[in-house]
Amino acid sequence: MSTDSDTTASTGGPAEEIDLDALRARYARERDRRVRPEGTAQYRSASGEFGYYAKDPYTPWKEREPLTDTVEVLVIGGGFGGLTTGARLRQAGVESIRMTDEAGDFGGTWYWNRYPGIHCDIESYSYMPLLEEVGYVPEWRYAPGEEIRRHAVAIAETFGLYRDALFHTRVTSLDWDERAQEWVVGTDRGDRMRARFVITSSGTMTRPKLPGIPGIDTFKGHTFHTSRWDYGYTGGDQTGGLDGLADKRVAVVGTGATGVQVIPHMGRDAGHLYVFQRTPSSVDVRDNRPTDPEWAASLRPGWQRERMENFLAVVSGEPVETDLTRDGWTSTARLQRKMISGALDTSVSPEERERIDELVDARKMNQLRARVDEVVDDPETAGLLKPWYRYMCKRPCFSDHYLQTFNRPNVTLVDTADHGGVTRMTEDAIVVGETEYPVDCVVFATGFDVGVSGVLAGTLRVRGRGGRDLLASWSRGPSTLHGFYGNGFPNLFHLGSLQNANSVNFAHVLLEQAEHIAAVVAEARKAGAAVVEPSQEAADAWGRTVRETAHDNSAFQAGCTPGYYNREGAGVHGGASYSPGPVAFHRLLKEWRDNRVHEVLVPKP
Ligand code: NDP
Repeated sequence: MSTDSDTTASTGGPAEEIDLDALRARYARERDRRVRPEGTAQYRSASGEFGYYAKDPYTPWKEREPLTDTVEVLVIGGGFGGLTTGARLRQAGVESIRMTDEAGDFGGTWYWNRYPGIHCDIESYSYMPLLEEVGYVPEWRYAPGEEIRRHAVAIAETFGLYRDALFHTRVTSLDWDERAQEWVVGTDRGDRMRARFVITSSGTMTRPKLPGIPGIDTFKGHTFHTSRWDYGYTGGDQTGGLDGLADKRVAVVGTGATGVQVIPHMGRDAGHLYVFQRTPSSVDVRDNRPTDPEWAASLRPGWQRERMENFLAVVSGEPVETDLTRDGWTSTARLQRKMISGALDTSVSPEERERIDELVDARKMNQLRARVDEVVDDPETAGLLKPWYRYMCKRPCFSDHYLQTFNRPNVTLVDTADHGGVTRMTEDAIVVGETEYPVDCVVFATGFDVGVSGVLAGTLRVRGRGGRDLLASWSRGPSTLHGFYGNGFPNLFHLGSLQNANSVNFAHVLLEQAEHIAAVVAEARKAGAAVVEPSQEAADAWGRTVRETAHDNSAFQAGCTPGYYNREGAGVHGGASYSPGPVAFHRLLKEWRDNRVHEVLVPKP
């Protein structure tokens, strides 16, 4: 049992009595109800017979001749990682840049995800990169998806990145040509292009994932994934008005961050909506509002960098004088340490820190469970919507409309936890246990193959010096300097989550990576270097630094309800990222650029 002073010390407010033993036991029971023996193998990729779930519904496919030309820099991925790299390279004077993407335009995850209600859950002033360079202030504190997608297009236009761009093109192979000192780039469109530098930023949240529900392929009604929304069928747009669903019995499977945003629109417009839930999300207050024009007019040059860095520092546990954002992320920074690297509270012993963390967590989750009771009228439904796990076991969600949707008479919550999810599908129904729910349409809000980039998945095969296979050489884990480049693979740069530091504001993390890569490329050009390539010793040393500084969060993960954060209950040792966190990592990168960049510049013979 905790005392008032326990939690007062850590949260600044009086605390209710919390029976932590009872809470731990409840969390363990709820977790065990949901763990499935097949783990990640329970999912199906949207390829092969399910390939139609991944087709691009937004941009018509155009035939074109294969290319065999040469560019200086080829960027794989037109999301914010690729776009900001392209922008910074242009600013560094690089003329010959080719952007490529599997999608029909720029935007990455914001190209694919256009479901009704889509918003960014991070404040737009910190999330949307290069606002000042593009001359834009977002219209909303938390921007809708379409505004973010348009901003991606605006970045590409501002920096001339449409020139030479190739869309609907998946890079499938990279082969290093030692003689020419170039990469030979193969694609699914038959291209054999060449590039001096290649930058991979192919993202991890574009490939839809489907549950392996028996009979999923026998369903004869209409079906699609949220990341390929079928407005032709539903009518309406991202702001709602889904008239096509008015006379339909609609099912949605999944109540993660996507489900929480889309379900209010489906509930409002469908004849009847069945929400199939396995694990409830935690849903905190959103408080979205239009940007105050007076505030926008008062912004001074440099305002965005200041705000982004302030947000990053707060959520990473760094000391700051003012929290400029003051939202649901900045107020839960301490709890984020359980999943995301950052500065730990070292004013107390590790045991004391863990004790305080657990209390703060319990208090936060109690508050979120109490919110469900306040909002949802029917006590049984409210009971099913309460999250019983620690705060960072799943991506926390925010909505002022989601829980309210379950007060509608045309919305039914179907809990599937005791069955490990939906039991099966028939020609015209979803079945849970023995109960059939006949429906006209099934929408899968079941997420993505998160964290699996093309390089790691093996769909982008890389052969470096002497034909060395990248994945084979990483069989015991990635070997890079700072997550960017490895020995034996010259002039090849990776953006994403490899041996570096993460944050809930991933767009900021990508921007810093983009700026680093552009600076290194610029140095290589200035120095007339043959290639950029770290020594194996440097990569090994970085691997040791990452391992030795790692916070071991495996106990926390093992106690979590299953999800992609803990490989569906299998647990992941927190040793893959730089644990001091993104602020420390960015500082380290800057120092390295200022003093040691020459170490990766291999001179011409
Ligand atoms: P998630 O993987 O988070 O959620 C998938 C959902 O499908 C879960 O509720 C899952 O239940 C459920 N599910 C899976 N299989 C079954 C089954 N067999 N039967 C019933 N239910 C099933 O995907 P999302 O698309 O919601 O989110 C993915 C990520 O995208 C987020 O974590 C976030 O990082 C990002 N995102 C970000 C947004 C933003 O605003 N920045 C908005 C939306 C998404 P269970 O939990 O039990 O596995």
